[in-house]
Amino acid sequence: MLLKEILAKDPPGLIARAYRFAEHAHAGQKRKSGEPYFRHVQATAEILHGWGMDQVTVAAGLLHDTAEDTPITIEELKKEFGEEVAFLVSGVTKLGHIKYRGATAKVENLRKLILALSEDLRVVFVKLADRMHNMRTLSALPPQKQKRIALETDEIYAPLANRLGMWQAAGELHDLAFPFLHPEEHRWLLAHVPDAYEERTAYLERIKPQVERLLAEQNMTPLAISFRAKRYSSLYKKLLRYGMDLNKIHDLVALRILVATTADCYATLGAIHAAWPPLPGRIKDFIAMPKPNGYRSLHTTVIGPEKRIVEIQIRTQEMNEADEFGVAAHWLYKQHGDPGASHPAQIRKAAEELAWVEQLRAWQEQIATPEAEAEEVLSAMKIDFFKDRIFAITPRGDVIDLPAGATPLDFAYRIHSQVGDSASGARVNGQIVPLNHELRSGDLVEILIQKGKHPSEAWLDIAKTAIAREHIRAALRHRKTGGLIPRSLRTEFRIAAKDRVGLLKDITAAIARAHVNITSVNQQESASHSHVIIRIVCDLGDREKIEKLVLKIRQITGATEVGFKTRS
Ligand code: MN
Repeated sequence: MLLKEILAKDPPGLIARAYRFAEHAHAGQKRKSGEPYFRHVQATAEILHGWGMDQVTVAAGLLHDTAEDTPITIEELKKEFGEEVAFLVSGVTKLGHIKYRGATAKVENLRKLILALSEDLRVVFVKLADRMHNMRTLSALPPQKQKRIALETDEIYAPLANRLGMWQAAGELHDLAFPFLHPEEHRWLLAHVPDAYEERTAYLERIKPQVERLLAEQNMTPLAISFRAKRYSSLYKKLLRYGMDLNKIHDLVALRILVATTADCYATLGAIHAAWPPLPGRIKDFIAMPKPNGYRSLHTTVIGPEKRIVEIQIRTQEMNEADEFGVAAHWLYKQHGDPGASHPAQIRKAAEELAWVEQLRAWQEQIATPEAEAEEVLSAMKIDFFKDRIFAITPRGDVIDLPAGATPLDFAYRIHSQVGDSASGARVNGQIVPLNHELRSGDLVEILIQKGKHPSEAWLDIAKTAIAREHIRAALRHRKTGGLIPRSLRTEFRIAAKDRVGLLKDITAAIARAHVNITSVNQQESASHSHVIIRIVCDLGDREKIEKLVLKIRQITGATEVGFKTRS
């Protein structure tokens, strides 16, 4: 059922109310493409609806950009649509603050953050649907943005969809990102593949009735026979392994047969093989041995009519839906109201590298039990296995992983020891907070710095991380010993120069650019009045840095002589 039909059928319903609310909230807003902004949230909701999501999630899809892009607040959404919808929208809004710039080491952290922030997996579904539509319309954005979003999609969101068993969505996201990340390769494929495609599709159209006849002879009626074209992104990866030789790729287009039961899968395979000889080594039983991501299906490559090679995939409806919708497939069963029917663990995952994936699997199995009622299913969707970790975000969108209970001080020391040492407070989600404020996942944290500020004993109680305490202790020790450590050396520059407007400013700016702290400035006029002697004392002991600075200052217009003295 289309969104339009739901609206017509149930005008006072949640989805219809959210629809009208969002349409009004985004009125007059336009996307980069010139389309009304509302089209985007409508498409997001349609994708969610297509995945079989419940009405709370579809409503959240319609409202997902209201908190960020309109004056509407989460509080208002709560009043208007209830806790659940408001919670989902606030989760999606927080996710929007994270920016990924392709630092590979941080990918895993980011995926964890996305899940932790989401708390409720439906937040992830809304975000994935949002991203899906943004990717489908990515060409409207400037190239720089296209690249970043495509990379983020390819490395974060598509793998995340894959982890959730939404392989169809994952495949589409990878494929949508492909032309932006590999434009040349994409052009090559376009130039070389299309004919093979159409030609093979025509062939499959011809043999489809033969397959139907062949199965009818065995008293079998498939539920459906369809084609699936190989995605460019996965085709490209495969071609790389086959020396870019398209003749070696046998699954550019595959015939897909849907049958009722697992037994029918094998019976169908037998009937096909009886008619058309299989290529040796090309029969793959992903039912007995699912792929690591849980994918199940029978694959075979046969020499079909006209002596041509064709790949055939055989699977049940359920395997197909798990392939297309993954975790979301569960809602399909719920909505079609037949929870007691065939429902084995539909999403199986092989052991994967991370503990959280194990956790994910645990609840996937939990929600896949036939007895699970809708309520239990929803509570199982809540993720609480990150209770002991929080993930805070820097103003640049980087993710900082901290233990639960961590404070802005821990955050500051994780960025840099100097940021920690001179921290005076923090702004969390735009609000000024003290240093002992407890951070929460998704907080946007900006550290406020005060020059000359030093750590105090009390900080040892505020900091929760070992690394922060370590730095604080070191700073306290350093203060007690009177700073007799090389770092606290002072250097006095003596600069003779021809006086002019802006001279002093140019000199101090050069020093500041070298990240050197100035402690005092003194200027004396010489007897001739046209010349000055400037003395600048800095916190600086590094010989190399001093010499570099001397060179820099000498280049400043007017400077005639630069000398220095270092003392502790
Ligand atoms: Mn959006």
